[in-house]
Amino acid sequence: MSTAARTRVRLATTSLAGCFGCHMSFLDIDEHLFELVELVEFDRSPLTNIKHCSPCDIGLIEGGVCNAENVHVLREFRAQCKTLVAIGACAINGGLPAQRNHIPLEACLREVYQSRAGLGASGVPNDPELPLLLDKVRPIHEVVRVDYSIPGCPPSGEAIWKFLSDLIAGRTPRLSHPMLHFD
Ligand code: SF4
Repeated sequence: MSTAARTRVRLATTSLAGCFGCHMSFLDIDEHLFELVELVEFDRSPLTNIKHCSPCDIGLIEGGVCNAENVHVLREFRAQCKTLVAIGACAINGGLPAQRNHIPLEACLREVYQSRAGLGASGVPNDPELPLLLDKVRPIHEVVRVDYSIPGCPPSGEAIWKFLSDLIAGRTPRLSHPMLHFD
């Protein structure tokens, strides 16, 4: 590994209970991607094939926590990343997946897998390989300590780039008011 590569910031990203929209917005930083790859090395991320997070400087997480696997991945990220960043409404407050929190889990599963036309015949999946569902979808701050949050569904690529470029340069990240939105 070259000296330049060793001094790059190590960055990991993952999605828990999210739709990958925040990752798509991350890719929307467009030409800044060329600057970013000069500044960072990617660890676990959809952009790599790395399955487990190694020690990293920054971890970006989209999505809330809906099952036991999400809890495991989130705790691994927290343990390995010096700075953990919640990206988007799902990570910050559960977002759209948390709409199921108003319905008891059993009733929710019955409605989807037994009552609905189409999936009705399949029954509720119970393969032991499937991660256990939590009773409610949780924001990530209920499970681990979070250092920063970038609101939005999703946050804009502009906001993500401003935030990351500040953090990588050692500045306290600051987003101007037009970059902050909560929808
Ligand atoms: Fe998708 Fe919005 Fe959740 Fe991001 S915040 S993962 S865009 S639903």
